[in-house]
Amino acid sequence: MSDLILVLNAGSSSIKFEVFEAAGLQLCWGGQIEGIGAAPCFATHDSEGWMLADRRWLKNGAPVDHSAALGGIIAWLDGVTNGRRIIAVGHRVVHGGPDFAAPVLVTPAVLHRLEALASLAPLHQPHNLAGLRAAAERFPGVPQVACFDTAFHRDHPWEADSFALPQRFYDRGIRRYGFHGLSYEYIARRLAAEDPVLGRGRLVVAHLGNGASLCAIRDGRSIDSTMGFTALDGVPMGTRCGQIDPGAVLHLIEAEGMSPAEVGRLLYEESGLKGLSGLSQDVRALEASDRPEAARALSYFAWRVRREIGALAATLGGIDALVFTAGIGENSAATRARICEGLGVLGIALDPARNAAGAPEVSVPGAAVQVLVRRTNEERMIAEHVREALSAGARAAAGDASGPAYPELRG
Ligand code: AMP
Repeated sequence: MSDLILVLNAGSSSIKFEVFEAAGLQLCWGGQIEGIGAAPCFATHDSEGWMLADRRWLKNGAPVDHSAALGGIIAWLDGVTNGRRIIAVGHRVVHGGPDFAAPVLVTPAVLHRLEALASLAPLHQPHNLAGLRAAAERFPGVPQVACFDTAFHRDHPWEADSFALPQRFYDRGIRRYGFHGLSYEYIARRLAAEDPVLGRGRLVVAHLGNGASLCAIRDGRSIDSTMGFTALDGVPMGTRCGQIDPGAVLHLIEAEGMSPAEVGRLLYEESGLKGLSGLSQDVRALEASDRPEAARALSYFAWRVRREIGALAATLGGIDALVFTAGIGENSAATRARICEGLGVLGIALDPARNAAGAPEVSVPGAAVQVLVRRTNEERMIAEHVREALSAGARAAAGDASGPAYPELRG
């Protein structure tokens, strides 16, 4: 009976999970508990996406916290795993700060360092760590591996990593960290496996989902990203504003008398596609609407993404492929078409029929720049990291210094 790897993605009110076979990383089951702290709802599926359980879940009417929710997931898994062992747990952790440039085996000392980073990502980090603590408690002795959204961007050149502020702010951690790194790393690895020449080339990857960013990748490594200190910068998102003149933020506080908390709510929750359209954050709803505000919001989104593609192509000194991924990038042919309009100057030309069909390659045959559509899979990327961490740990225990280095694994 083969062993299993559990991957957890704990948010403020939800825990998503996927379970993989440790040997070949085939997906076995996945699911999520949403509504933690209120009225939790539990849904699970098998590897083909068939629904296995979908129910409201109340713990004798008592509030359900992360630990209780994880208990519910484990109890469900006990019923389907048939005695197979979970040998490691991988966690999505949004912020690795300036130091964690690779996944890390979590020890009490590491947990302490990750807790100290909570102020850099107050909306996400505490919940990620609540999931981590709950798993450590529920799986005593089982390795817990933290995988960071920031890690893939850690070797950005200094110019891409910095704001034009006095050096002391950089030293205090006020840097352009970049996010969605697990998604970008997954796409970079898959492209390199498909086409090693392209894998070493100059890629602009557009992760366009409810959260959205773009990344410039050369030789499989991140060179620059549109997201900065927080996941608020860059292109507009479902409800986040994207790039905004910091002078406007000062004005809202000083001249309009808004509190920092009110400005935070405005920029994180009431802006982006939702704020622009006044209708919805959901691209499907906006595309289905005949209201001019919906069309304007979609046009604005494409405008800003197009602008960033140009900027990142300049950073890379040219572009070999543009890759669309995540909910909007993978599914919205109309958004891909709007974005690519006018990018002929970079050698980008979409084939309308291939684009409408959502083909893996949507550029015209022979175009200078390949335009690709790829499904991202952050959970699978975490599972790959966990497997690599386990074999690095086994090599280290055997005194073997060969193979990829996971220096952080020594905690
Ligand atoms: P994600 O955060 O990656 O799940 O992406 C969520 C976004 O993808 C939402 O704005 C959805 O409206 C959008 N999306 C998902 N499926 C489609 C589709 N078939 N057509 C257009 N947009 C879609």
